Amino acid sequence: MSGTRVLVAGASIAGPALAHWLRRRGAEVTVVERAPGLRPGGQAVDARGVAKEVIVRMGLDEQVRATRTDTAGAYTVDADGNVLETYRADDHGGDGYIAEIEILRGDLSQVLYDDTRDGVEYLFGDRIAELTQDADGVDVTFAAGDRRRFDLVIGADGLHSGLRAMVFGPREQYLRHLGMVLAFYTVPNEFEVDRWLIDYQESGRSAGLRPLPDATRAMAMLSFTDPDFEVDHRDVEAQKRLLRERMAGFGWWTPRILAHLDATPDFYLDQVAQVVMDRWSSGRVGLLGDAAFSSSPMSGGGTGLALVGAYLLAGELAAAGWDPAAGFAAYERQMRPFVEANQEIGRMHVQSRDASGPDAEPPAEPDMEALMQLVERAINGVALPDYAGVPDSGSTHSSAMTAGSTRSTA
Ligand SMILES: Cc1cc2nc3c(=O)[nH]c(=O)nc-3n(C[C@H](O)[C@H](O)[C@H](O)COP(=O)(O)OP(=O)(O)OC[C@H]3O[C@@H](n4cnc5c(N)ncnc54)[C@H](O)[C@@H]3O)c2cc1C
Repeated sequence: MSGTRVLVAGASIAGPALAHWLRRRGAEVTVVERAPGLRPGGQAVDARGVAKEVIVRMGLDEQVRATRTDTAGAYTVDADGNVLETYRADDHGGDGYIAEIEILRGDLSQVLYDDTRDGVEYLFGDRIAELTQDADGVDVTFAAGDRRRFDLVIGADGLHSGLRAMVFGPREQYLRHLGMVLAFYTVPNEFEVDRWLIDYQESGRSAGLRPLPDATRAMAMLSFTDPDFEVDHRDVEAQKRLLRERMAGFGWWTPRILAHLDATPDFYLDQVAQVVMDRWSSGRVGLLGDAAFSSSPMSGGGTGLALVGAYLLAGELAAAGWDPAAGFAAYERQMRPFVEANQEIGRMHVQSRDASGPDAEPPAEPDMEALMQLVERAINGVALPDYAGVPDSGSTHSSAMTAGSTRSTA
């Protein structure tokens, strides 16, 4: 054991994935999550190319494949439901629009948590309230009152990262709103959605339905343009009001989908935004996942970036003997071009949906060869070092585990 104590903020995708790799490299890991438990819900997320290889190296390929959605593909429709275009899950070797590894965000989070819960300390219902760093460590005061010292602190606390605001500056400095808002919630499957995702788009708005493993329900997906989006990301009632207002008069099955808004047990709405920062670390504090480099849901790459970033961040810190300056620099050097390719795809996708409104210039015809090269860089554009010689206790299923614990203060 290196005995290096690392605190990770956020237990969604990036946080537990990082906890997996840090533990394997010999660190003692604590994860603090603001929510009282693992957060369920969210749309399906995808792992393509090199992110699939990270899942294999985690020893979780079987668990992830067993939990993935069984989506056969997607089709777009017109207002009367006539099929316009079809995409199959086995297009492009399983790395296409509907990826072969497609899993509900909440289910992937659960797989990663189950894998790490015995070797990692999880603190639910708490967050970092204050943090002071010196040359040798970081003193942390938790909102619930505890004070502890860590060697390193990593923010994996999402788009609206509290740690980023605390250490690097206000959210507005780094968040780039792309002019579009997305909402997801489950509805009774009165629409008889089977294994196909259905999507209706018109003039910067869209409505869709996707199948869920529980066939009695379907996932509703709505989007609209809003360059000035200003609703509090925690005020669910205000978000529902806004959604109802902006989707009013939209065709296809939209009124029937909206009729279930009040009764839905889950709801997620957020601006389509990216995080752009010059650097992802400051002294002994680093950032990972959406907190550091959100590429937006429209890139389809946020989860892949979080998984690959977790592998590289833990590997580089351990390879540098846990020296923060060297470890963070090597992580950033390798991740940045990969992040930039995914962010470019996110921006292009939003532009292709005419998010800037009816008066906007029509987008230029894409150069297909350049586009295919960009997609390839976004899927496979980073090498995964083997980290030969760096400690590795193996995946949970093959290694002796240290006892972990879970506390909830909520
Ligand atoms: C409930 C939910 C639903 C989502 N739904 C979708 C979706 O439908 N489609 C999509 O493309 N992406 C969705 N995302 C985002 C997606 O998970 C990420 O883009 C990607 O997987 C990278 O994950 P991440 O772990 O970096 O960030 P996130 O998945 O955003 O996770 C951040 C975690 O940090 C926690 N947190 C926030 N602030 C603090 C704090 N101060 N202290 C401690 N913990 C904190 C949050 O509760 C959350 O669990 C969703 C995220 C969440 C949390």
